[in-house]
Amino acid sequence: MIQETYADGKKHIHVLSYGGGTQSTALLLMALKGEINGVKPDYIIFSDTGWEPKSIYAWVKKVNEYIKKTFNREIIFTNGGNIRTDMLNAANNQARAASLPYFTLSPTGEKGMVMRQCTAEYKIQPVTHKIRNLLSYGPRQKVKEVVHVWKGISTDEIQRVKPIQTPWQEAEHPLIDVIQMNRSNCIAYVEREGLGTPAKSSCIGCPYHDDTTWREMKLNDPESFADAVAIDKKIRVMPKLKGQTFLHRSCKPLGEVNFNEDQMDIWDMFDNECEGMCGV
Ligand code: SF4
Repeated sequence: MIQETYADGKKHIHVLSYGGGTQSTALLLMALKGEINGVKPDYIIFSDTGWEPKSIYAWVKKVNEYIKKTFNREIIFTNGGNIRTDMLNAANNQARAASLPYFTLSPTGEKGMVMRQCTAEYKIQPVTHKIRNLLSYGPRQKVKEVVHVWKGISTDEIQRVKPIQTPWQEAEHPLIDVIQMNRSNCIAYVEREGLGTPAKSSCIGCPYHDDTTWREMKLNDPESFADAVAIDKKIRVMPKLKGQTFLHRSCKPLGEVNFNEDQMDIWDMFDNECEGMCGV
């Protein structure tokens, strides 16, 4: 529960996990205006995977400048490495790297999907490390505070609400529990603030992209799409993964996929599968 005071005698810390996307931008602005039960987050943390489109980095910079000027607050940046660099290192040197939810094709033609480790290693763990660091805890010291981690999951993505694993953290979903907002409401809220239209954030080559997302990237951000195609070509053989590895669910090279330009794709794995640390 997000509230100004608690009766348990413990110190409570509020951390807004900022993803650079639509919902967490709306949540950030609402929070700094005191619209989330009057509580303003103690820290705003953005964990950068290093492989977001340039437009998202420009957006995060703009939002950070706006909140500095308007609320005298700043985003704290952290990271768990660079997902793109680590993927290439894994592909080129068969070194260990956190797996994306890659699609795989076995020698006998069976398709599969790799269990995702990237959200934990590039989003969740860096935020946890940064919180420990901000609260001045050493590596094995027990955290005494109750840390409320706010995530920007909206009412239309309620399936992404998942329990938090770290015992001293409590997951908070203010866009569901405090102010009921869907994605469209969030876009309208940010636009009313005069910041423009926020986009959905995610890694350029996230295998959860549906064909609509790939198609829009190909048309509107050819530089990012070309990069995803180039990386996809390099990841056919990844350490400890059997068969060939792909970014697109067809298990075809990304550059050769027909994105059904004349059809809408309803197979959106991102919203169903990705917990609230990616894409909000
Ligand atoms: S956006 Fe996709 S690739 Fe990036 S960390 Fe999240 S699940 Fe992994």
